[in-house]
Amino acid sequence: MQIKEASFLTSSVNPKDCPAPNKPEYAFIGRSNVGKSSLLNMLCNKKKLAKTSGTPGKTRLINHFLIDHAWYMVDLPGYGYAKLSKTEREKFKNMIDDYLTERTNLANLFVLIDSRHAPLKSDLDFMQHIGNIEIPFSIVFTKTDKLKPSELEENLKVYQDKLHEEWEDLPPVFLTSSTSKSGREEMLRYIKNINKS
Ligand code: GDP
Repeated sequence: MQIKEASFLTSSVNPKDCPAPNKPEYAFIGRSNVGKSSLLNMLCNKKKLAKTSGTPGKTRLINHFLIDHAWYMVDLPGYGYAKLSKTEREKFKNMIDDYLTERTNLANLFVLIDSRHAPLKSDLDFMQHIGNIEIPFSIVFTKTDKLKPSELEENLKVYQDKLHEEWEDLPPVFLTSSTSKSGREEMLRYIKNINKS
């Protein structure tokens, strides 16, 4: 599948301000600097659809993009900002939770993980949480071009072993690089198939 048209639609502070839930929606989330903006741009074949490396303050909004007049791509705020106070973090977590539980059109949440890093507790806790509340999700390992194939394989195994400590069935996994565009076809095909079903 190719994306023919992608345009920015709205930024919302609250889920209740988001566009009417009349199209399937695919949301993307991850720690800041994981490569989320680059991935969204790569999927849409645009250089500047999503802003890359924004400061945390600017990226605390729910951004909707309309894709081919058929579905929404949603850039969710990054989580795990070390600089946020506990109260702010809590507020933020509630906002994301409200979004995830209230958006009736949410078809899939893509959780982005930097393929270079060992599993982080905050990422694992987040996946545990969304699994518990039954949000359909997949894992996207980013920046795979930065690793040798053997290192990538090793990191994936470590990650999957860690997930298996809690879950028998693992979510779908995508290996991506925004520089080489690998994983693009697989992700778009996955979205297309869900949209058809
Ligand atoms: P965000 O904060 O999650 O939106 O992350 P960005 O998309 O802004 O990326 C953070 C940094 O990682 C930037 O310097 C990007 O150029 C770099 N980056 C993102 N994705 C990739 C990738 O797939 N490969 C490489 N080599 N660098 C990447």
